[in-house]
Amino acid sequence: MLNGVKVIDLTIPLGEGIVMWPGAQAPEAETVVTVAHDGYFARRVSFFEHSGTHFDAPCHFIEGQTTVDKVPVASLVRPAAVIDIAGRIGDDADGELLLEDVRMFEEANGRIPDGSAVLLRTGWEEFNHDERRYAGAPGDLRFPGFGVEAAKFLVDERKIGGLGTDTLGIDPGGATHFPVHSQVTHPKGIWHLENLQNLKLLPPLGAWIVVGVLPLIGGSGSPARVIALLP
Ligand SMILES: [Zn+2]
Repeated sequence: MLNGVKVIDLTIPLGEGIVMWPGAQAPEAETVVTVAHDGYFARRVSFFEHSGTHFDAPCHFIEGQTTVDKVPVASLVRPAAVIDIAGRIGDDADGELLLEDVRMFEEANGRIPDGSAVLLRTGWEEFNHDERRYAGAPGDLRFPGFGVEAAKFLVDERKIGGLGTDTLGIDPGGATHFPVHSQVTHPKGIWHLENLQNLKLLPPLGAWIVVGVLPLIGGSGSPARVIALLP
């Protein structure tokens, strides 16, 4: 708490044990110098751009769209709208955010402000240490996500700036053609945050998020420190 502002970390610590998109290599770290031997400690780290809590730049699915270093910094600080469907979907790994959920959210909390980052809480963050539960069975990805109709409404009617979720991906695991990524958000330059946690600590409206993504030159995305500020 600083000057009445509460700070909440929405980031999963990044290391070799995290659940990855199937087939993607886990992060690796190699110690290159040590305090005992060299007088200072540092490692060399390599990671897939979409590891852990991370950012998808629009070029992730659309050739020629914005790379991560070119995403305007002002677009990385946004009011958050947190839609919680964990209670409604329960254990349903095919659960989706429906237009009806958005309508009910707005009836209860008011209109989602233009330019918001809409963060979907599915409850899957509780399983982010358990690959089978979090991602589904090998060859059969299963986790909840944004339905196409709801995502379209948020982009076209609410002019949102970004989407985020507490699962491996914005599109539900079963949506193997990634309709939200490829048809709804990235073509319009809208970014994503995936593998968020601690969404249950945020109010429906009123928090802001700061997306500390690495400006990797020409990159498709990057692990990101995502920080929420609660006035
Ligand atoms: Zn991604």
